[in-house]
Amino acid sequence: MSHCIVVGAGPVGATMGLALARRGFRVTLVEQSPHLPADPRAATLQPPTIDMLHALGVGREILARGLLAPTFQFRDRASDEIVAEFDYGQLASETNYPFALQCEQFKVADTVITALRAEASASVRLGTRLVGFTQSETGVSATIESASGTEALKADYLIGCDGGRSTVRKSLGIAFEGFTYPERFLVLTTAHDFLQRGFAIRNYVLDPTQWCALFKVPDQGPPGLWRCVFPTAATDQASDAECLADDYVAAQIAGLDGGLGLGDLVHRNLYAVNQRVAASFRRGRVFLAGDSAHVNNPLGGLGMNSGIHDAMNLADKLDQARRDRARAEALFDAYDTERATLARDYVQAQTIQNKKRLEARTPEAREAALAELRASAGDPARHKAWVMRASLIEGLRNIARGEAA
Ligand SMILES: Cc1cc2nc3c(=O)[nH]c(=O)nc-3n(C[C@H](O)[C@H](O)[C@H](O)COP(=O)(O)OP(=O)(O)OC[C@H]3O[C@@H](n4cnc5c(N)ncnc54)[C@H](O)[C@@H]3O)c2cc1C
Repeated sequence: MSHCIVVGAGPVGATMGLALARRGFRVTLVEQSPHLPADPRAATLQPPTIDMLHALGVGREILARGLLAPTFQFRDRASDEIVAEFDYGQLASETNYPFALQCEQFKVADTVITALRAEASASVRLGTRLVGFTQSETGVSATIESASGTEALKADYLIGCDGGRSTVRKSLGIAFEGFTYPERFLVLTTAHDFLQRGFAIRNYVLDPTQWCALFKVPDQGPPGLWRCVFPTAATDQASDAECLADDYVAAQIAGLDGGLGLGDLVHRNLYAVNQRVAASFRRGRVFLAGDSAHVNNPLGGLGMNSGIHDAMNLADKLDQARRDRARAEALFDAYDTERATLARDYVQAQTIQNKKRLEARTPEAREAALAELRASAGDPARHKAWVMRASLIEGLRNIARGEAA
């Protein structure tokens, strides 16, 4: 039985492990943290991802843990006008799941790992860190560390799903090409109910300096919580602590929604934002998937989704290579090409564009952004094209047909 070591039990590593186990691989999943990380990060599952999770047999449970988001809005912060509302219902003839699903990434990882633990061929080892590896033409030798000491593991393949600071990527000496935004993103969590003010479950609010993204997450069940993502000023020299302090936060939320005040906030978080893609997603028998291979800003809800898509694509390639060894090299190169193209031409392009649209600074750029949104939402063909792209359906289909963006 072919053996794969998967490094990292985020949503991508969990999916990678389950997709391989379901295809008959022996899987060892190692996660350095003793518990599954539960920090507030990704929360939006796109329709193709829901489809993939169903194919793995966990879709129904994830649907039950999530919140359906059929539409998303663009608003103008200055006028509070709803500029455009896009409807994933337009995708009814394209997917079984014509909606986004709001489900926190730790719930996705938790559900998938529960299914993985039930697989006889899988071993999930929390509190276990990959510290190094070597590879030859016939296999991979990994060194892992846990409370019980250091251990050597042998496998046919190793897959780094170990996040943006990936040990696997760095050990392979693969460059992480791209840039870091000068501004940081402030994420505020609140129980304040934006639905009552006519917001959708997912919203993007345009403003030259105080744009924001607002989206609902299910939390522990009704009524749920809202996450509000704001930028710090690009030239801001304020320390992280200053950006998280009351006066700074109060200025961000001022006037956003009449009833929202500091007292409504239950969590504050600040983080640096990168747009980067690995120069290669594979070296020999070692692969990268998810944030270890590509990172992007959260506007559009694409990072976790594209990582899960990497995992499904790679599981298929490894499965095909096992059945037809002569094609292994070509299949593995195809993984690299397909997923790097998707990351660069769709996820990077869309997320960079999403940020530019929200922060359009000159009056002309702003008018153009608002006009594009109104025209796209108002025209049935453009509306559908917009949601085909936003949901990643277009990118997946084009890449499958061998077409770039
Ligand atoms: C605020 C925010 C909002 C976001 N919103 C969205 C969204 O709505 N939709 C979306 O698609 N994406 C979103 N993203 C991006 C998303 O969170 C990431 O793309 C996603 O977490 C990537 O998953 P991953 O499994 O690749 O990596 P991670 O979730 O980072 O998991 C990597 C795991 O590897 C483990 N690990 C690292 N090194 C080792 C080692 N040496 N040995 C063993 N284990 C190791 C880590 O402990 C970690 O558990 C958002 C991100 C942020 C910060």
